[in-house]
Amino acid sequence: MIELAGLEVQVVKSSSDNDSPSSECIVCGRQMNVGLKICGQFICSDCEQEIVHTEVSDPRYLYFIQCMKQIWLAALS
Ligand SMILES: [Zn+2]
Repeated sequence: MIELAGLEVQVVKSSSDNDSPSSECIVCGRQMNVGLKICGQFICSDCEQEIVHTEVSDPRYLYFIQCMKQIWLAALS
């Protein structure tokens, strides 16, 4: 368990068993089983990498921020 800006972050990895069903990524909406869970909100590893590598000047950055807001709102509720 790691913490990011005070939020609980859980690293989700694929497993060979069926105990961990895939989660829906809040950014791309795909069912994935590798990524990060932040306060129960799942972000797949693809989107996580994209967020990390997106410049602030990129229009997509704003969209990512909107998605991150969902996490914050969920964390606060
Ligand atoms: Zn995604």
